[in-house]
Amino acid sequence: MSSSPLADLDEQQREAASSLRGPLCVLAGAGTGKTRVITHRIAHGVDTGAYSPSRVMAVTFTAKAAGEMRGRLRALGVQGVAARTFHATALAQLNFFWPQLARDTAPSIIDNKVRVLGQAADSLSLRLDGTTLRDVASRIEWRKVAMRTIDQDAAAHPDGLGPKLSADRLAELQRRYEKLKDERRQLDFEDVLLACAGMLESEPRVAAAVHEQYRHLTVDEFQDVSPVQYRLLELWLGDRRDVCVVGDASQTIYSFAGADPRYLLEFVDRYEDARLVRLERNYRSDPSVLAVANALMRGRPGALALRSDRTAGPTPTLTGYPDDAAEADGVASAIAGQIAAGVEPHDIAVLYRANAQSASLLAALASRGIPATVLGGKRFFDLPEVRQAVLALRGASVAPLETTFLAAVRDVLRSLGLTEDPPPAGGALRDAWEARAAVLRLAEQAEEGTTLRAFTDELMARGRDQHEPTMRTVTLATLHAAKGLEWNHVHLVGLSEGLLPISYATGFEEIDEERRLAYVGITRAAHSLSLSWSERSGTRQRQPSRFLQEIGTGTLRAGDARATSAGRARR
Ligand code: ATP
Ligand code: MG
Repeated sequence: MSSSPLADLDEQQREAASSLRGPLCVLAGAGTGKTRVITHRIAHGVDTGAYSPSRVMAVTFTAKAAGEMRGRLRALGVQGVAARTFHATALAQLNFFWPQLARDTAPSIIDNKVRVLGQAADSLSLRLDGTTLRDVASRIEWRKVAMRTIDQDAAAHPDGLGPKLSADRLAELQRRYEKLKDERRQLDFEDVLLACAGMLESEPRVAAAVHEQYRHLTVDEFQDVSPVQYRLLELWLGDRRDVCVVGDASQTIYSFAGADPRYLLEFVDRYEDARLVRLERNYRSDPSVLAVANALMRGRPGALALRSDRTAGPTPTLTGYPDDAAEADGVASAIAGQIAAGVEPHDIAVLYRANAQSASLLAALASRGIPATVLGGKRFFDLPEVRQAVLALRGASVAPLETTFLAAVRDVLRSLGLTEDPPPAGGALRDAWEARAAVLRLAEQAEEGTTLRAFTDELMARGRDQHEPTMRTVTLATLHAAKGLEWNHVHLVGLSEGLLPISYATGFEEIDEERRLAYVGITRAAHSLSLSWSERSGTRQRQPSRFLQEIGTGTLRAGDARATSAGRARR
């Protein structure tokens, strides 16, 4: 690590990172160092004494991205910054202030909106199937992030949910749903943001306390902010100006959930004294990867061509397969080849549009003995084997150490089932083994002279912060979950019509969002990029994705499906 957090930034990045006060907006393409600027800017503020870490709030969109941000800050020697998702920040404030305001604990959070909606429908003697209930749930989510009342929503959608549910019935169902939650003292996911905003609006004491606590606000991925999130940000800010937002309108992928990139693009109009910085060079990807991303976005309004100073890198491949199973098998075979050639599994990701695509990929990887983790699955520190390990290590810390720290950790983990050789991939046993192995690696990285007690303290702190260790497995992730992250080797699968763009994306705006999703996927790759599609999924014939035609053939070369057992070369 260099001496100053500004030292390893380019000129534009340094300009942004050294603007510590006042509204700042960084508008830049994928991999240009936006997240790096945010973390280095905070480190610079702390280093120079301009910021106290506990007064910095850094907000982002996924728990994984928040963990990543804390990891980067820690590597820069900064601890104690509140780097969380919007949701976690709002929830923490509710839990803190609610008991003071209401002399009661904060309401609990429901994890299954559809179940409560089902109960509300029952109590109204409405017979609705699962699909309709899910549609109602999305309508509620949409309405709440847009901060609309039930009546406003009904007025905006006089047709309700079409033939399934009239506008009146829909409104009635929503009212009953809200009533049920109130009676049970429950909030749903979106209520957390609304309730926090409501509390800050109506309780000047709370607003003053939050303003006192958090002086410096930063938001990553600002293109995906929704109206309610924007409102929260304004309330957190109060009449102060110390806010920094960074984003890339070409990566807006949450419009379906109410995100609006205009908050990013119009930021400098809303804050007249805002400084605007654009970053120009991509540091993540080889030019051969960027050529694919640029080809996809060429001619789109506002699209910025990504540039890099690196040498070209391998030409990305496109492979066609006869069906989904062959595609999963072909990708697993290619990954086996990469690992055999010395690539670390955690440098490889397989990205796809819909959760349902993960099952066949997991199975194909498992059949080749390749361990994989689905991003956004259960959190590392919530895994039963990790909890068990922390408890056992804690227990062992009471007795005086007879061996070295590391030997003691190893003994405890062995007694829990960490064998020398991993069990075969693809089963629960292997997953548990990987989790214990990750705990051991954390112990191996611990400072010299550490004790079991200090180590378990550290593990518990990491658990609270959701600061997860890297599992040495291949990552499987949806395109949404992959945002902001990067891997050396990316396999983007399912590039067929109906999968990407997904079947229900039909309008112009929706197709645009699908294109941006493909763009997010492509730009996750640092070094190699493999695209694939298949002619048939299940019983359905599929056409190659229109995005492949838009990319054209100039930047891709045909992959070799014959290298796999099941596939035959298709172009
Ligand atoms: P995304 O839009 O995908 O979120 P981003 O703009 O946030 O991307 P970062 O993740 O901050 O980009 O940076 C991309 C990669 O480039 C990271 O590995 C980062 O460490 C590296 N990088 C960024 N700037 C520099 C630099 N000046 N020197 C060396 N590496 C850099
Ligand atoms: Mg980023």
